[in-house]
Amino acid sequence: MLFSWLRARRRRAARGRPLPPDAEEALLRLCRQGAWLDAAEGRLWREWIAVFLEEKRFEGCGGQAIDDEVRLSVAGQAGLVTLGFPEEYFDTLRSVLVYPGDWAGRKAVPLDGGAHLEWRERRLGEAWTGGSVLLSWPAVRRGGRLLDGARSVVIHEFAHLVDALDGTIDGVPPLPRGVDARDWRARLAGCRERFEEALDEGRAVALDDYAADGAVEFFAVASECFFQDPHLLARHDEELYGLLAASWRQDPRRRVPMSGLRGR
Ligand SMILES: [Zn+2]
Repeated sequence: MLFSWLRARRRRAARGRPLPPDAEEALLRLCRQGAWLDAAEGRLWREWIAVFLEEKRFEGCGGQAIDDEVRLSVAGQAGLVTLGFPEEYFDTLRSVLVYPGDWAGRKAVPLDGGAHLEWRERRLGEAWTGGSVLLSWPAVRRGGRLLDGARSVVIHEFAHLVDALDGTIDGVPPLPRGVDARDWRARLAGCRERFEEALDEGRAVALDDYAADGAVEFFAVASECFFQDPHLLARHDEELYGLLAASWRQDPRRRVPMSGLRGR
């Protein structure tokens, strides 16, 4: 009780401190999505970033240095996903581990008869519900500068963290009151089937094919596209866009310019 009161007071103080001018300039340079926000969204975004930077520990791994550029680039992209629920600071997340490049992660699927098939694949990010998120700095940087199309490893990993907020990582995040969870889940599964069919048939799709890995990755990859290029997502699947707008409690299509008009 006392702890939560102190924490609320600390957060209020952090929200009230504006970013120094050089950090503000760096944030907008590193996180080009910031330019899309209106005044009210921009205020929420900066307040969230201030609290996040104060509360989370950043650690460089494998020789990666941690400086303001790294911290702002991560916090800025993570802050986009919480615009619809700005009081969410991911209390169980303690540290952000940043690597100088991608790494090999272990992947396993169960086989009939109790055996497992295991292999290693390149990873740009991982979210551990134990309290860490792992990120590759080159991928973080590209996502913030819109150099990776609809991809952002930060948005991807934070989508997993939001998915986990209800206690299970199953590709279904906590939904706002008034949204029928069974209906939402069934319609999202329908969108995933349509995506996999289009992929199988070689048709153009909005999402990276990693989205075909299962319900969990489908939600995270679709969320990347939802924030980074909402027009592209809506053009391919208006229903999927609408389901994500309901769960993320925001409508980025309203603010994000069409991709051809963004410039570089
Ligand atoms: Zn993932």
